Amino acid sequence: MKLVDEVGNVQLMQRINRLKVLETIRSKGPLARPEIARMTGLSPSSITNIITYLLERDLVAGMGTIDSRDVGRKATLIRFNPSAHGIVAVNVEIDKANIALTDLAGNILVMRDLAFDRRTLDFEILGLIKKEITLLLEGDTVQRNGVIGMGLAVSGLVKDEGRFVFSSSLRWKGLSIKEQFESLFRIPVFIQNNSKTKAIWALNKHVEDNDRNVIFLDLTMGIGIISFYDHRINEAVIGELGHTTVKKDGPPCFCGNRGCLELMCSVDAVLSNCREKLSRGRCAILAAQMKDGDGKLSYDAVLHAYASGDGDVRAILKECGEYLGMGIANIINLFNPQRIIINGDVLLKSGFIEETAKAEAGKRANEELMKGIKYQKVDIGIEESIQGIVLYVAGRMFELSDSIL
Ligand SMILES: [Zn+2]
Repeated sequence: MKLVDEVGNVQLMQRINRLKVLETIRSKGPLARPEIARMTGLSPSSITNIITYLLERDLVAGMGTIDSRDVGRKATLIRFNPSAHGIVAVNVEIDKANIALTDLAGNILVMRDLAFDRRTLDFEILGLIKKEITLLLEGDTVQRNGVIGMGLAVSGLVKDEGRFVFSSSLRWKGLSIKEQFESLFRIPVFIQNNSKTKAIWALNKHVEDNDRNVIFLDLTMGIGIISFYDHRINEAVIGELGHTTVKKDGPPCFCGNRGCLELMCSVDAVLSNCREKLSRGRCAILAAQMKDGDGKLSYDAVLHAYASGDGDVRAILKECGEYLGMGIANIINLFNPQRIIINGDVLLKSGFIEETAKAEAGKRANEELMKGIKYQKVDIGIEESIQGIVLYVAGRMFELSDSIL
């Protein structure tokens, strides 16, 4: 028994070291062997053995040489080889899903779009997604890209490592998607909330190594935040910033509270404030432009009226920006982030709201905590969302529990 344990331990250590090396090359590469040894703390002979192992499995490849200051001569650069394997990434939103086959770096090889009615039942949606994945896996591309993992990102609450998915927008109540998909496709399946996978994309693209404390502010559906510490999601933060109270006797919210931030600062809030002022004969420029156009009130029409100098519209957008600024000031005072990444979407189409929000945050947040804070605006579309899912899946695959090595 003891001997088995020892053999098991040696194998486990080998796996840990291989993963450590692969992860270093994947995230920091291309690198020469001496640099990898220095960065992982492993001996040069271990590195040589591990690199040989990874080269045989096409997970890494050699590319050119550099003058290595570690060994004082030329050394071959080793890069991660993303095209050796494939990942299936599925992004599920309220009325659509995108199903993609990518390489390990998130380059999309094939993508299929699926649209469904908002009334479609949970098992029907999952059935449609399974069918699309099956069609995708039958394609030619797969032969060259043995699929090793799958990721599903869903708008909703994902509990217990993706074993249960709750989504109020999709009306899913505790679906066990992971087991279903793993038994059908026989590969590891990872489920995550899609604000988190978008945040992972943004973190990888826009964050510098010395940014340890980062907040991702997502304005796409309501107002949510994801907190990162040391380049990992801080799971202790739920992030329902949109449902923090900013107005004592504000309008009632579906969450049961009143005066929630996202009721005071959203496209819907702007439109309903405009509607109210229009009914009282205000927003003259907006009214005139609507009369000349199709007569409909839209967010684009509002922004157009703002650009034409409508003072009432300006005041409405300013108030929306000020509330957003209150939310940002609260983020700064609570989390002391070095960087705030804002996923803009429709609400920030007008730079005026963003500028007002930043100015308001500057007035309200602690002066010391404001120093050196970096704002970054991003606009995450479907390709970026898919890449975020792949980054998440690849990260999980390279962790111990679900290793591909
Ligand atoms: Zn609320």
